[in-house]
Order: sequence, then C-alpha cells, then structure tokens
Amino acid sequence: MLQQGMDGLVTGIEGGHLPDGVAVRMALLRWYIMYEYGEIVANSMHIVGRIASVDTPLTPNLNDIFAYIDEHSQVFLAQLIEYLRRPSISAYGEGISEVADYVAGVMRQIGLVVRVMPTGGWPMVFGEYNAGRGAPTVLLYGHYDVQPPDPLEEWLSPPFEPTIRNGRIYARGVGDNKGQHFAQLLALEAHLACRGTLPCNVKVLLEGEEEVGSPHMPEFIRACRDELQADLVIISDGPVHENGQPTISFGVRGVLDIELRARGANRDLHSGHWGGYRAQSPLDTRSPARLDEKRAWRDHYRRLLRERSAANQAGTTGSSEPAY
Ligand SMILES: [Zn+2]
Repeated sequence: MLQQGMDGLVTGIEGGHLPDGVAVRMALLRWYIMYEYGEIVANSMHIVGRIASVDTPLTPNLNDIFAYIDEHSQVFLAQLIEYLRRPSISAYGEGISEVADYVAGVMRQIGLVVRVMPTGGWPMVFGEYNAGRGAPTVLLYGHYDVQPPDPLEEWLSPPFEPTIRNGRIYARGVGDNKGQHFAQLLALEAHLACRGTLPCNVKVLLEGEEEVGSPHMPEFIRACRDELQADLVIISDGPVHENGQPTISFGVRGVLDIELRARGANRDLHSGHWGGYRAQSPLDTRSPARLDEKRAWRDHYRRLLRERSAANQAGTTGSSEPAY
C-alpha cells in the first residue's frame, strides 16, 4: 500500500506535485508511519529500517482515508491553486501577512487551534491538535513564504497564476514549500474527516522568513520552547528522492556566513626598518606583480652570492673583501 502511495509522485524545481491525491496520500503516510512504526524512537535508523521493509502486516489500514483523498482530489487541487495564487514574498514583505492569515484560516477549518504569532520580522503560523494526554507529539515544519519570482521574463506562465502543464503545476512556491506543507495539512484534514481524530498530537509550524535565512527562528524557539515540545519533528521542505521511497535525511548542512576583515599596512614596509614584527598587508604579498618582483630580486641576489663564492674559491678576486 505504501508503495502504491509513492508510485508516480513527481517533484521538480517549480513544477510541483501531481495534481491528484498522490502527494496528500504520501504526506499522510509519512507522518502516520513515522508515528505508528517508529514509535517516536530516538534511534532514527530503526525507523529507516522499518520503513524500508513496510509491508501489509505493518501497514495501517488507511483505505477509508485514501478513498476520501481520491474523492476530494479535485477539491484539494483547487485549494492548493488558491493558495499558490497568493504572493508571499518574504524578501519584499509582499502579501506576507495576508497569506499568514489565509493559511491560518485553512488550518482552523481543518480543526487545528491556530495562532499567528508575531516575531521581530514576519509572523509564524502555529497550529495544534490535541489528541489527548499521553499521545506522542509530531511537529510538522514548513514555510509559507516564497522566493521572489524574478526574472519574470523566464516564466512560461506568470508565477502567481498557477498553470498545469504535462501533469505538473507551475507556480512560484509550489515546489518550495507551499505544495509540501499543504499536502500535510490536507492529510490531517482527510484523517480528521474520516476518523474524527488524529492518532497523535500534531503541531504545525509554518514560518514566513525561511527564504531570507530564518533570522528570527532562534529567538522564537527560545521564547516558545515549551509550546514547541515534540517527540518528532518532520521538516516538510524537501524533494522526494528520485527512487520514490520515503527517506530520512541526516547531516543536513547549515549555512555559515562570514565577513572577514583584515587590517594591515597600506604600503610596503621595508624589512630593514620594520623587521619581522610588522606583517605586510596580505593583499600586497598576494599580488602577482609583487611576487614576481620579489622573486626577481631574490634570484638576482642568489646569483650574486654564487658568483662571489666561486670567485673566492678560485682565489681570483685578488681583493680583501670577505667571502659571502
Ligand atoms: Zn523551502
């Protein structure tokens, strides 16, 4: 069943999810299986092993939910398109607060308790579903902001007019990250509609500044440490592996920005006056012209030494100058 859910799922740059229920099925399965089989263990390799071998005996019976997803796939598609139509460009702030409110409304309709939480920049949208005490908690992370769509002339169809071509949706943000987290939200909706509850507590955190480097995320996490407590975090912000299998990624790289300022001499410093205690400007010594000049003088000096040494040994100088 899992395999059926995965087959045919295609993701791409800005050509997002197939316009049917496959992505929603997959989102549902991803967190359901994490919950059901991983039992939120700390040893994630264990989860990987289980997922790799998931087969019918371990697969939960989700047929009623899959049927609901299939029945509603066109409605889901229309909802996703409605979401994609709304610009939310964090770099300029265009549409950010409107989209934060919009997606908060979607989450409320699904049945989550939602807050739009201010930060020093663009707000976080935070939704919760409480399945009851004792149930483990899964936190789903995504971001509702998108990259600026420039250069506009490169787009075959306008970035905020979602268009379906060859089984893919083309719109800014569909592949990063509106498509992914919207699929997660629809998976929650489908489960709640069919079963009236979720199998675990769920928290959904949608950020509005991911595309500008998440400048307020550390502060937000520090301030809301208790509210964000979870047994498992699923980052719903990546592609599906080309083999179609669900994957868990380890060793995600961070980004380190460094600004290096070096201060040195603003001119050549003669070693006879300055000795070894004052470094030349590294920019000077790395200059090819300066290096060539230094090499030329060094070679000249060595040649001179060799000549004098040879002359001394041959006793032909006839002078009282000391040998070098
Ligand atoms: Zn992203």
